[in-house]
Amino acid sequence: PPVELPIHEAVLGRAAEFGARPALIDGTDGTTLTYEQVNRFHRRVAAGLADAGVRKGDVLALHSPNTIAFPTAFYAATRAGASVTTVHPLATPEEFAGQLDDSGARWIVTVSPLLETARRAAELVGGIREIFVCDSAPGHRSLIDMLATTAPEPQLAFDPAEDIAALPYSSGTTGVPKGVMLTHRQIATNLAQLEPAVPTTQDERILAVLPFFHIYGLTALMNAPLRKGATVVVLPRFDLETFLAAIETHRITGLYVAPPIVLALAKHPAVTRYDLSCLKYVLSAAAPLDARLARACADRLGLPPIGQAYGMTELSPGTHVVPLDRLHDAPAGTVGRLIAGTEMRIVSLDDPGKDLGTGESGEILIRGPQVMKGYLGRPDATTAMIDTEGWLHTGDVGHVDEDGWLFVVDRVKELIKYKGFQVAPAELEALLLTHPGIADAAVVGTYNDDGNEVPHAFVVRRADAAEQPTENEIMLYVAERVAPYKRVRQVTFIDTVPRAASGKILRRELRELT
Ligand code: ATP
Ligand code: MG
Repeated sequence: PPVELPIHEAVLGRAAEFGARPALIDGTDGTTLTYEQVNRFHRRVAAGLADAGVRKGDVLALHSPNTIAFPTAFYAATRAGASVTTVHPLATPEEFAGQLDDSGARWIVTVSPLLETARRAAELVGGIREIFVCDSAPGHRSLIDMLATTAPEPQLAFDPAEDIAALPYSSGTTGVPKGVMLTHRQIATNLAQLEPAVPTTQDERILAVLPFFHIYGLTALMNAPLRKGATVVVLPRFDLETFLAAIETHRITGLYVAPPIVLALAKHPAVTRYDLSCLKYVLSAAAPLDARLARACADRLGLPPIGQAYGMTELSPGTHVVPLDRLHDAPAGTVGRLIAGTEMRIVSLDDPGKDLGTGESGEILIRGPQVMKGYLGRPDATTAMIDTEGWLHTGDVGHVDEDGWLFVVDRVKELIKYKGFQVAPAELEALLLTHPGIADAAVVGTYNDDGNEVPHAFVVRRADAAEQPTENEIMLYVAERVAPYKRVRQVTFIDTVPRAASGKILRRELRELT
């Protein structure tokens, strides 16, 4: 059944009970916030924000890297009635201004190192009432000062089914990021739906290295563990050595990562220098993860097979996950099973009305209480995405096996059509990564001289490899392992694969290089 609670209640409802347990630990300096503090602080800051003029329905932009103050700022804002739009901490002033404008934000909460960007964004867009800081900066009200406010805590009536809790933006993998309206009920219900499969306990220590501003980090690294009394160790950015040291020092039990981190864990020499025996499981989501890579990573760390989850911003965000008690017997490469209260269909790409059977690949359609309210200010895009019967068309291609395990192939739009055959870039990328001389790879469709769309590989070679593979060697390596229509027909060497903060390959940036 849907959870009819505002998100701050759904997450922090048991915070008083968890009391002196550590809720958040700063992974760089060890500063700790207990549950009692997070509970008290977010209520005081809500009072401070309300006193400053924040009203129900206002949009507040939260612009910060991962810090231990981030959750307090988020739940304070929702308790004050705001809809929170989270902003990429590395956004340029222009990008930030675009999001402020698109979301209709009136308030900004930032951190002093990012203040200049926030100020310039606010100037560009106009209409921002005030910029607050989480830490301190001259001339700006600080959330820390609000802890001392004597203003009353706002006592608002929420309609969880209608009120927008968050306005996260999609990753912008396929185009301009879209503002996604998620209600309190959608986010709270999805947490409850995912919970049985990933039953976090109070004894767990989760490492928050993926960004809180993206829906995956917001859910898996903030809402879900804080709801259950676990401890979240916070890192502001991904740096492999800091990340490994934090796992060892803080005795991290569970990792939620994206495929690039799995790749680093499987291949980087630094990994063996740390004692990672505290880890009990690793879950990956947000982009295709190859089964061979997943196995290499799990074997190297001595862990159970790596689990996956599947979702998207528009789905609050989850629909599938490999339950932690099924890691050993789930088939390799699956993104999981459908969670409770959710329906799925797989329909033909050529004939969208036609439902496909077991093992047949088609577009994944989802219906359930976690389907977004819509794209902000884009009714046409919303109607294009959610049909009149409430099915959300994910734009992803997948198939299920006879036991209901889902396999995601790739995005419909990324499929390369080679002479009538469909080639999934993700499959070729995974294969390329098995080459010992290749550190990273991305594949996009480009057009050759005959006007045929062909797979074009962008390859980062391993600097430490004994021999650096040539273009021809790479094409041959693929040709020996795939059907002829899937062959890579062009190779370009690059220094790094461009990725979104959520770990997705930005193939459109590579296409611009061709
Ligand atoms: P945009 O919609 O702006 O182009 P985006 O779709 O990348 O960006 P997100 O909402 O962050 O934005 O990502 C959702 C997408 O991530 C899904 O549609 C799917 O393509 C991909 N994805 C998520 N989990 C997995 C997974 N386990 N395996 C493969 N792909 C995944
Ligand atoms: Mg998308």
